[in-house]
Amino acid sequence: MNIYVLLKRTFDTEEKITVANGAIQEDGAEFIINPYDEYAVEEAIQIRDAKGGEVTVVSVGSEESEKQLRTALAMGADKAVLINTEDDVEGGDQFTTAKILAEFLKDKDADLIIAGNVAIDGGSGQVGPRVAEQLNIPYVTTITKIEIDGEQATITRDVEGDSEVIEASLPLLVTAQQGLNDPRYPSLPGIMKAKKKPLEELELDDLDLDEDEVEAKTKTLDIFLPPKKEAGRVLEGDLSDQVRELVNVLHKEAKVI
Ligand SMILES: Cc1cc2nc3c(=O)[nH]c(=O)nc-3n(C[C@H](O)[C@H](O)[C@H](O)COP(=O)(O)OP(=O)(O)OC[C@H]3O[C@@H](n4cnc5c(N)ncnc54)[C@H](O)[C@@H]3O)c2cc1C
Repeated sequence: MNIYVLLKRTFDTEEKITVANGAIQEDGAEFIINPYDEYAVEEAIQIRDAKGGEVTVVSVGSEESEKQLRTALAMGADKAVLINTEDDVEGGDQFTTAKILAEFLKDKDADLIIAGNVAIDGGSGQVGPRVAEQLNIPYVTTITKIEIDGEQATITRDVEGDSEVIEASLPLLVTAQQGLNDPRYPSLPGIMKAKKKPLEELELDDLDLDEDEVEAKTKTLDIFLPPKKEAGRVLEGDLSDQVRELVNVLHKEAKVI
């Protein structure tokens, strides 16, 4: 099985995020593998171990993404590819990322491509499906289980808490949902081995892509944090007074009824 994992470096949303001049401040932010992509790496490794083959992790980003790619190699992936867009593209969007990834993947004879369901920063959930559309292969999103038998995959996907079972043929792209597996931590020998595993670096030129072919289709006008929550109000007095007051507040202040 020739398996590719699409891996995004994201900032850790568990940490405090600062926004200034309409942009998220990267100074002091912690960067991690997008958590859904950890499920993708883990699943790819498990499928390779069961069926044989190779796992390649690929990321579009800057040189800084090398760290997250090395972590995936330490988990057990075989090869990594960094498509470095730092000098060529400014302000890309989901179209940009998907176009670059699809261009890279188009002649790779991938049997299975695994992406995350969503990036915890950009959060559009578009990159996986866009890549599959461009490669003209089937895709199944938010998967929680996959079994492969020959050229057929039987997949369980999460549908807002319910499950749906789908059959699809390879080559196939799936996006990983929480619950697919328990991603392993890189072991010490894994970290040592990862240092020697191949990490190829490509630029747009290597993919025969021009800057204008990957120009963003959307423009981000503003980024801001949600307004601070104000302190709650506790109603007091008789229950009937409280109910009257609550209706009054919902009607006149909150204007929701
Ligand atoms: C050259 C370039 C410049 C950019 N500049 C800006 C900018 O100025 N401001 C800004 O806010 N954002 C910028 N971005 C990021 C971009 O807007 C999106 O965050 C990105 O396209 C992915 O969309 P998403 O976060 O909604 O991912 P989703 O579609 O939610 O991600 C789903 C899955 O797709 C895969 N995936 C997503 N992104 C990548 C990736 N980069 N590499 C490999 N796999 C991936 C992962 O498997 C991920 O789990 C830039 C991106 C590029 C390529």
